[in-house]
Amino acid sequence: MKLIFERSVPGRRCSILPECDVPVIGTGEKLLSAAGRKSPLRLPQVSENDISRHYTALANATHGVNDGSYPLGSCTMKYNPKLNDEMASLPGFTRIHPLQPEETVQGCLHVLHDAERVFCEITGMDAMTFQPAAGAHGEFTGLLLIRAYHESRGDVKRTKIIVPDSAHGTNPASATMAGYQVINIPSTKEGCVDLEALKAAVGEDTAGLMLTNPNTVGLFDKNILEITRIVHESGGLCYYDGANLNAVMGVARPGDMGFDTVHLNLHKTFSTPHGGGGPGSGPVGCKAFLGKFLPGKEIREENGVFYRADYEKSIGMVRAFYGNFLVVVKALCYALTLGAEGIRDAAHMAVLNANYLRVRLSEAYHMAYQETCMHEFVMTLQPEKEELQVSAMDIAKALLDYGIHPPTMYFPLIVHEALMVEPTETESPENLEELISAFMEIHRKAQEDPKWIRSAPHKTEISRLDEVQAARNPKLHYEL
Ligand SMILES: *Cc1c(COP(=O)(O)O)cnc(C)c1O
Repeated sequence: MKLIFERSVPGRRCSILPECDVPVIGTGEKLLSAAGRKSPLRLPQVSENDISRHYTALANATHGVNDGSYPLGSCTMKYNPKLNDEMASLPGFTRIHPLQPEETVQGCLHVLHDAERVFCEITGMDAMTFQPAAGAHGEFTGLLLIRAYHESRGDVKRTKIIVPDSAHGTNPASATMAGYQVINIPSTKEGCVDLEALKAAVGEDTAGLMLTNPNTVGLFDKNILEITRIVHESGGLCYYDGANLNAVMGVARPGDMGFDTVHLNLHKTFSTPHGGGGPGSGPVGCKAFLGKFLPGKEIREENGVFYRADYEKSIGMVRAFYGNFLVVVKALCYALTLGAEGIRDAAHMAVLNANYLRVRLSEAYHMAYQETCMHEFVMTLQPEKEELQVSAMDIAKALLDYGIHPPTMYFPLIVHEALMVEPTETESPENLEELISAFMEIHRKAQEDPKWIRSAPHKTEISRLDEVQAARNPKLHYEL
């Protein structure tokens, strides 16, 4: 595929401008210095046709939910209704400035106010900020709330955050960023929190625990009330990583499980497509006693008028203005279209789809855990690796030839040769059947012709990348 710079021909343009009818500031050198530049910007010079084909080619070279199944575990790559994008594209939302006077952006403040109520209801929290731009950013923000809480009580000896070994890598990273020491605790054989290990880990130095439930192996930790009780008894707080909320939204609330603060990934659960770098949104909710520490401004309402107010002891700003506001518009739209019942139905369907797939695939594949799962499950390709020298990576690559995005690979770290599969509620039974036959055919081929699998994919533009080189020596810009 040609890059846009390679399509460039000097002088080629895609617009015909009318005669200039304002004073000319300068051209050439003079214009450059007026713009504070030393050399002209090296923009590609192309026709509109070139640009159009360029973007179409880019879209064709990638895989999105609009192309086919995308069972990327832990990411909830579901179909996002176009209606929500349409609502977020309304000029009243897009053609505003964050510094506009409040009385001219009442509708937007109304959206933030309603979104806070709706998502507090879903999570069982009392207050919420929409500033954080992603899940990891939300984790960092939540931990700063926890730190502000302990510090406000003069309790400065709490320097440790407990994180189970099944956690998403962002959990220990965020805790470290927030200035904490991470205490890793092992999981049980069943993939859940080891209560004895937790009891041994908590103490006077515990600032809090970070946990996702259902956890990263797709299981709901039935001891959750006991877990949060143990942490609270030690004086620590409980942080809920909400990345897996798709399995329990409308059914179980982190606030009722004993969590004090939570982030949501609006770009996973609530109707914003993701992958490719955003924009995302990781709102952070908290119980009332943490509300005064929230970042940014609180949106209040009095007699139908919306206005901003300062939080009493805010941790400050974690992002400019209101965060990725348009993502919040989409999320609110999604929640209001589905309603309380629809949200619960979506969670139920997500769990049903995952279990249907899990049971059907276990005819050929080994499940890392035998229990009924929530919205996702983890398989282990360890036996195939040993017997056939076919790895989880090989299976994932082979799926590309079937027009299916691979599942999440090699995560969670506690399962060898892991493939983590999350079909989501938006795949129909017919789509699931297609997914199943692809998985089954690949498994058959792995036995009949393992070499073919090891060299897959065969139908994509490029086959296997040198992953080490790509990670160690990334080429992030085009050499002009
Ligand atoms: C995706 C994910 C995160 C991080 O969220 P981002 O929005 O990618 O920063 C954290 N925890 C879990 C379990 C996740 O799946």
